[in-house]
Amino acid sequence: MVYTVVPGPVFKHDCQECSYQMTIQAPNGKQADLYLCPKSQISQVLARYGNEPSEYTTLAEQMGAILNNPSIPELPTLFPAPSES
Ligand SMILES: [Zn+2]
Repeated sequence: MVYTVVPGPVFKHDCQECSYQMTIQAPNGKQADLYLCPKSQISQVLARYGNEPSEYTTLAEQMGAILNNPSIPELPTLFPAPSES
């Protein structure tokens, strides 16, 4: 299963530091906006999947679950591991 890139962003995001990257949509219609956040300590990529402030994740596994498919092969590429430096 693969996602498709759709026009966005489709959700409100409350962090001024983030730069919008793209919006992905799973075959089931669920969408997520992807941002690069320079302030995040866990990962520089976050995915917003709703308009509530808490409706975002920085984990590829969680994003896969939200999109109802933990095995989307592209997700690890979208959420690279934090560098050791
Ligand atoms: Zn941010």
